[in-house]
Amino acid sequence: METENEQQRWAMDTLAIHAGQEPDPHSGAVMMPIVLSSTFAQESPGQHKGFEYSRSGNPTRQALECCLAALEGASHGFTFASGSAASTTLVHTLSPGDHVLCGDDVYGGTFRLFDKVMAPMKIETTFLDMQDASRVADAMRPETRMIWMETPTNPLLKIFDIARVASIAKDASIPLVVDNTFATPMLQRPLDLGATAVVHSTTKYLNGHSDAVGGAILTSDEALAERVGFLQNAIGAVPSPFDCYLVLRGLKTLGARMRNHVVSATDLAKRLEAHPAIERVIYPGLSSHPGHELASRQMTGFGGMITAIVRGGLEPARQMLEKLSVFYCAESLGGVESLAEHPAIMTHASVPPEQRAALGISDGLVRLSVGLEDVEDLWRDLDAALAN
Ligand SMILES: *Cc1c(COP(=O)(O)O)cnc(C)c1O
Repeated sequence: METENEQQRWAMDTLAIHAGQEPDPHSGAVMMPIVLSSTFAQESPGQHKGFEYSRSGNPTRQALECCLAALEGASHGFTFASGSAASTTLVHTLSPGDHVLCGDDVYGGTFRLFDKVMAPMKIETTFLDMQDASRVADAMRPETRMIWMETPTNPLLKIFDIARVASIAKDASIPLVVDNTFATPMLQRPLDLGATAVVHSTTKYLNGHSDAVGGAILTSDEALAERVGFLQNAIGAVPSPFDCYLVLRGLKTLGARMRNHVVSATDLAKRLEAHPAIERVIYPGLSSHPGHELASRQMTGFGGMITAIVRGGLEPARQMLEKLSVFYCAESLGGVESLAEHPAIMTHASVPPEQRAALGISDGLVRLSVGLEDVEDLWRDLDAALAN
């Protein structure tokens, strides 16, 4: 059994495989068993082995929560039935009258959560472009109680300065939440840069095989962890043990997968940038990207997502998505298989058209999740789909 001190010295690839997991003491099984039991026997009322009821805590889930916490450098981890359930639980730490500052180019469901669910509960949100961090300081109000950002953003892949915004949050004694779904802890560790909490949709890269929906919150803030732990149990949007097992299994190859995603995405982004049918390519690894330098500082790799604007708008973009065959036209991202999607029609349909236009989510914009297939097969697929 490794001591916590030994674990603290482990590098990311080792943590991804071993953190929170030990061979099963009964059988020696080296893979975490899926413990389906909803309840746990107590020796005497209130005397148990740390588990009472599977909504409150489950051994398979606990292994996943410990592994994710170790990867993000957090002391506490909580997992949920989806990324949206994680976000919903986290915003329940707020009270009516509170105000939130949120990045302007967030996951469509996060926008909808603040705009359609929290607003009627008297929690107001201001969405703003945080590329200029001084705008965040200017937008702060006395009642601002949380700052929320994604970086790289979705789908425009803007890069926000986590450390600078974290210091603004710290000055106001409020939490900075970073949705780290796109980068994963392999490429970016927000808590090291001063963020208070990280949220994830584990559905994406962390699981990596597009066969489970889940979410997580990681933090080292004791007061926040206590509240989130209470809310996890009280709201009850917890993941199944089977889904926890799948994410645990996916995590074991996270490092190897992310390195491969980055190499292929960098290659394809450069080739797309030179393609006559493409108006513009947005990828933080390209020197043409306005956030390239900042991304080089706060990330250890630029990710597997590429956004491209197809010349001619909706019709050519639609044709491209219909013609692709190695890339599937589908929502979601972060799996071993490559996916392409049209944010204006698909993932970001819940963002009003005027706001999409203001953000720059144009009708020719397609988002690519570069998978682990052979990169030459991926390029041939893109090139053929862009031919007219
Ligand atoms: C998918 C996603 C979510 C929501 O997660 P679900 O698991 O689909 O509920 C939140 N944030 C980002 C960045 C995402 O990509």
